[in-house]
Amino acid sequence: MTNPLFDALFAPLAGRETPLLILPDAAPIRGDAFLKRVLQMAQALVALGLQPGDRLALQVAKSPDAFALYGASVATGVVLLPLNPAYEPAELGYFVQDSDAALLLADDPAADGLRGALPGRRVLGIGAFAAMAGGKSGSVAPVARQTKDLAALLYTSGTTGRSKGAMLSHGNLLSNAQVLADLWRFTPADVLLHALPIFHTHGLFVAGNVALLSGAAMIWLPGFQAEQVLALLPQATAMMGVPTFYTRLLDAPGLTRAATAQMRLFVSGSAPLLAETHAEFEHRTGHAILERYGMTETNMSTSNPYDGARRAGTVGMALPGVEVAITDPATGVALPVGEAGMIELRGPNVFPGYWNMPDKTAQDLRANGFFITGDLGRFDEQGYLQIVGRLKDLIISGGMNIYPKELELLLDDASGVLESAVIGVPHPDFGEAVVAVLVPIPGQVPDVAAIAKGLRGQVARFKQPKAMVVRDALPRNAMGKVRKELLRAEYGGMFAAAVGPSTT
Ligand code: AMP
Repeated sequence: MTNPLFDALFAPLAGRETPLLILPDAAPIRGDAFLKRVLQMAQALVALGLQPGDRLALQVAKSPDAFALYGASVATGVVLLPLNPAYEPAELGYFVQDSDAALLLADDPAADGLRGALPGRRVLGIGAFAAMAGGKSGSVAPVARQTKDLAALLYTSGTTGRSKGAMLSHGNLLSNAQVLADLWRFTPADVLLHALPIFHTHGLFVAGNVALLSGAAMIWLPGFQAEQVLALLPQATAMMGVPTFYTRLLDAPGLTRAATAQMRLFVSGSAPLLAETHAEFEHRTGHAILERYGMTETNMSTSNPYDGARRAGTVGMALPGVEVAITDPATGVALPVGEAGMIELRGPNVFPGYWNMPDKTAQDLRANGFFITGDLGRFDEQGYLQIVGRLKDLIISGGMNIYPKELELLLDDASGVLESAVIGVPHPDFGEAVVAVLVPIPGQVPDVAAIAKGLRGQVARFKQPKAMVVRDALPRNAMGKVRKELLRAEYGGMFAAAVGPSTT
């Protein structure tokens, strides 16, 4: 009777006297002490009546205890449902009811509106829970688990429609951690700077599991602050971040070769890293950021190589054991290499489906095991995958497909432009019209007419933006993803005058 995920990630902490978590404002937490905390919390969950398979919702600030609760859920077979602390009680209500969570642990169970939003649900403060756990012995054996048993339920960011609970199995998490730790050469000598949130797959599983599996330590930060991170980099060997971490570091004058001399690896993912950011970071530090691609439903699927060229604007090749197919979004038929299409993925990393949504699962997960990601991509001549956008962001103007990424790459390079987002908005003649949203380099004013003129020589006429707008920043979510749906809502009426009833 074993629990392979627990045995790989947490059991090896037994007797470890060296730090697992290095904290900015408190003494480090040794491996053995962390394991004791995990097991005490496991006992507390059992004492509260949680059974294997029950869902445990967790909406708390990032802390060592919040991370220990992940270990406790693995030990008890409880399915962890980590939630963004930014969610309001009404949003929380949906996740807790939909998952039928047996318990919600919250920072402040008396918070305004919390109980009202969760009628009949059990809510406990993390402080009270931690105190209860503190009274336990910490000597308990983990329950047996099979690879197909669920470890976590992660609700997708759900920018359209209902947010879906992606079910992740013990096997999904373990196989992915093994592949990544190996590919990225993690060892017990590593110190991973951990500034990501832990309600998302990136911080909790990619970073957390890789560090645990390889016996590395983590500098455990509540969030990302460029100055603090820069000050701590000399104590670290690796960092995993979203692209915004890297742009913020580049804004800090302290980002130098000397400041990053101890580092061996910078990884980026969760949103596209601008080629310009990649180049500038390499110029300033000598480090080529390693970009990888994954999603909640599939864990990580592709990565640039550890050795060999890390190519800006690409997410590398399929991870060992993972298959990537590019198919025609309309027919599902495989496309010739080089053509852009739907990215489909198969492997031990791919989730078994959406919680309580058999129809949605059947729609997205083929009987042959391939998951239809909703991301569009193409393999370049060197076999590196390029993400060209989400299917829902694809623009169809006058019956022609336009991939926003193609235009964004050109616009990002235009004079005075820091970054761009290209969206489709309703248009009376074309169905959709291309609108380019430009963010200027601070202190500069992009010459919109000149940029439009420049595009004329570079892309076919049907792809050229019908309008360009300049704004200070792009709206982003917690993981740094551009929220195009907000831009579409804001600029969606641009051509409406032409559609609406005539007033004359
Ligand atoms: P999430 O489920 O929140 O992790 O979001 C997954 C989505 O983020 C993917 O489906 C992609 O659209 C996007 N994504 C993740 N990594 C990358 C990357 N390196 N480049 C571009 N998009 C990415």
